[in-house]
Amino acid sequence: MIPAQFDYMAPSTLAEAVSILGQHHDDAKILAGGHSLIPAMKLRLATPQILIDLGRIKDLSYIREEGGQIRIGAMTTHYQLESSARLREICPLLPDCAAQIGDVQVRNKGTIGGSLAHSDPAGDWPAAILALDAELVAAGASGDRVIKAADFFVDMLTTALKPSEILREIRITPPSDKFGQAYLKVPQPASGFAVVGVAVNLTRDQSGKCQSCGVGITGVASKAYRARAVESALNGSALDDQAIANVAAHATDGVSVNGDLYASDAYRTHLAQVYTRRAIGAAASRAK
Ligand SMILES: Cc1cc2nc3c(=O)[nH]c(=O)nc-3n(C[C@H](O)[C@H](O)[C@H](O)COP(=O)(O)OP(=O)(O)OC[C@H]3O[C@@H](n4cnc5c(N)ncnc54)[C@H](O)[C@@H]3O)c2cc1C
Repeated sequence: MIPAQFDYMAPSTLAEAVSILGQHHDDAKILAGGHSLIPAMKLRLATPQILIDLGRIKDLSYIREEGGQIRIGAMTTHYQLESSARLREICPLLPDCAAQIGDVQVRNKGTIGGSLAHSDPAGDWPAAILALDAELVAAGASGDRVIKAADFFVDMLTTALKPSEILREIRITPPSDKFGQAYLKVPQPASGFAVVGVAVNLTRDQSGKCQSCGVGITGVASKAYRARAVESALNGSALDDQAIANVAAHATDGVSVNGDLYASDAYRTHLAQVYTRRAIGAAASRAK
């Protein structure tokens, strides 16, 4: 299908993009990598009258360390994150997650900001960003607003961004000593999207028990979520196989689990528990 007619704007600064969006936010859509928006436009599920392309704003694409945090520009591609040697050293969950998104073409064009702003219930980045307890920085006419990852994903394809705001940066405080991270997923065979995806970020104390943890789960519900019941059971727990299995049984506590032609709600619940156990096990074995 061919998209409905639209006007195209390509500002060269973020301030200009914010200003255009401020004037047209009811009719306009931000264009990042286009790998979710363009298919939606071709199917006429999205019919924006104006597209504001962020592609010419070069200073929205970066990975840097500042103020003890990793800062990632919203237009940074999945591939840039996948291939960062520095991230593999200090926060391997990010490249691990990026490497499991779609195929090479999707990873070369798709952006972390586009993926988060889209809030696809089966998208990979939301799980990792929740497990890392990241902060998301939204730029609007009155300046920047910082939103905690746990407050960002509101529902299917809905985030806490206001219609007049642009996601400009993701901030992550990298873990220090004795940390382990993992992202494991069951990909939908046709699309690559997560039937279930589990991201874990944990640290061990001196005795080897879990000192702190974040667990993000995607693919299971109408939006990605922090598995709070898993986190509270895991904090202070031993990290042996039996303890991890007990904790992982809480993967879908309090969550309304989706069922579809590919995976029933009962099968997804089972997968979520199994992949939570495996992801915690993998992260624990790396936390030495
Ligand atoms: C064949 C295929 C396979 C895929 N497989 C996977 C997969 O396995 N896992 C996965 O997670 N994803 C997958 N994707 C989706 C891919 O990761 C997309 O790149 C991503 O979902 C959207 O990023 P984008 O940069 O392309 O955003 P776009 O498509 O340009 O935008 C998506 C939405 O976010 C808004 N938006 C974009 N950037 C911003 C911003 N900075 N501020 C505010 N709003 C913004 C847009 O207005 C739009 O509504 C796949 C896509 C395709 C086509």
